[in-house]
Formats: sequence, structure tokens, C-alpha cells
Amino acid sequence: MTSKLFDLTGRTALVTGSSRGLGRAIAQGLGDAGARLVLNGRTEKPVATVAEEMRKAGYQVSEAAFDVTSEAAVRNAFERLDGEGLEVDILVNNAGIQHRQPIVELSFADWQRVIDTNLTSAFLVGREAARRMIPRGHGKIINIGSLTSEVARATVVPYTAAKGGVKLLTKGMAAEWAKFGIQANAIGPGYMLTDMNEALVNNPQFDGWVKSRTPAGRWGEPQELVGTAVFLASSASDYVNGQIIYVDGGMLSVL
Ligand code: NDP
Repeated sequence: MTSKLFDLTGRTALVTGSSRGLGRAIAQGLGDAGARLVLNGRTEKPVATVAEEMRKAGYQVSEAAFDVTSEAAVRNAFERLDGEGLEVDILVNNAGIQHRQPIVELSFADWQRVIDTNLTSAFLVGREAARRMIPRGHGKIINIGSLTSEVARATVVPYTAAKGGVKLLTKGMAAEWAKFGIQANAIGPGYMLTDMNEALVNNPQFDGWVKSRTPAGRWGEPQELVGTAVFLASSASDYVNGQIIYVDGGMLSVL
């Protein structure tokens, strides 16, 4: 009973930014639950390398390297998937970047790059996926927000603005697409151990701040997002829509 509820056999999951970090862990977790995977990153080589490793480990994997900020690249990628007969049942909009700089020093180009990669991408990829999910009458969209979907932090303002936008984009997707059998929800990770935070983990002051301000007393491991992702990708969450689930070791509760 329980295993059936979370079983993703026969489903295809596209995870953007799955060449490393949280995206890779989420993809692997969805694969462990039975999904066929479509891996993505900006460029072909890292995606091909991860895909090969995962195939050797027994996962069913296809590759779709494309820039999630390019409308044309996103459209072409979905047309290629159509051509290969791959129907995306589960989309995880995970690709993202971080940029640290005070607002008054921030260039317009950097503002735009951060907004495009963290927010506009979820619209572009989500729109292509939903255009195909709607006629099929089912689909699961999981947008990766952040605890900064809820609170702003100095020096990462375009990032927090984008992640705040991800929260309401998710609710908007749910509002428009629920009637077509699509659920759109978000995950808001706290401070996780990935390349994105390498400099912060190695900064004793920041590392100490994270550990002292997180009730769990530590950084999160990428695998700790998997349970929430599988839940939101599975039929167990069919009546959950427009929500953001924070996976942050309790940090938001005490910030
Ligand atoms: P990483 O930097 O480790 O990985 C980012 C991934 O996104 C890479 O696969 C990268 O591909 C891909 N990517 C970046 N830009 C693009 C693009 N334009 N087109 C396609 N792929 C792209 O990040 P994390 O794993 O840490 O973060 C994943 C998500 O989780 C992000 O949305 C992030 O904001 C969010 N998050 C992370 C937290 C953390 O503590 N780590 C906390 C809260 C949220 P490539 O290899 O080609 O660069």
C-alpha cells in the first residue's frame, strides 16, 4: 500500500540543473522511486558524465542539456523530447544560481541573470511542460524555492526576490492548472551542502552562523530533499497544490 502510493514507475521526470548538487540528488531519488529520468544542465559534457554514471548504476536516463533561461532553447529541448517520445510527467524546476553583492553595486545584467535563472526559467520550462501535461490530464510540477522565498537576506537581494517570486509562481500554476489534474508545489531548502555554498561552508564565521541559527545545528545534505520531492511527485500528494514545503532543519521557525 505505502510503496504503491510513492511509486513512480512509468513516470518520466525532467529535473533541471541535475548535473550536480540538489538536482542530482533529487533526480536520483525520483529514479529510486521508479521514474525514468531526463537530466539537464547548461552544457552537454557534465550532463553526459552524470547520465553515464547513473545508467551504470541501473537508472533509466536521457539527457537534455539546455539553458533554462533561453526561450528558444527550452522550446527546442521539449520538441526534441517529443521527437524521442518522452512525455514529461514530473518536472522539477531546480536550476539556479547565487550572486552576492549589495544592491547599490549590482549591475542590471547581474540582476537580470539571477532573476532569469531562478525565476523566469520556472515559467519557461513550466509552460512547455504544462502545454503537454494539460491534454494528458495529469502532471506534477515541483519548483525549488528557498527559505529566502519567505525572508530576505542582505547582499543576495535578486536571489531572494526571485525565490519569493517562485513561491507565488507556484501558487499561480496551481490556480490555473489544478483543473487539468496538475499539481504545482515548491520545496524551500535551507542551507544545504552543495557547490553553491562552498565558499560559505569554508568561511568559519558563516559556517558558525548557519549551525547556531539552524535548530538542527548543521547544514542539510542534498539527499534530505528526496523524501519531500518523491512525495510531491507521487500520487500521495494529489490533493496538495500550491504549497511550499520548507526543508530547512527548522531554521525558518526561529529566524
Ligand atoms: P549548484 O550550484 O550545486 O547546481 C546548480 C545546477 O543548476 C547545476 O546543475 C547547473 O548546471 C544548473 N544551472 C545553472 N544555471 C543553469 C542554466 N541557465 N540552465 C541550465 N542549468 C543551469 O546549486 P544547488 O544544487 O545548491 O541548488 C539547486 C537549487 O536549489 C537552486 O535553485 C538553488 O537556488 C536552490 N537552493 C539551494 C540551496 C542550498 O543551500 N544549496 C538553498 C535553497 C535553495 P551547470 O553544471 O551547467 O552549471
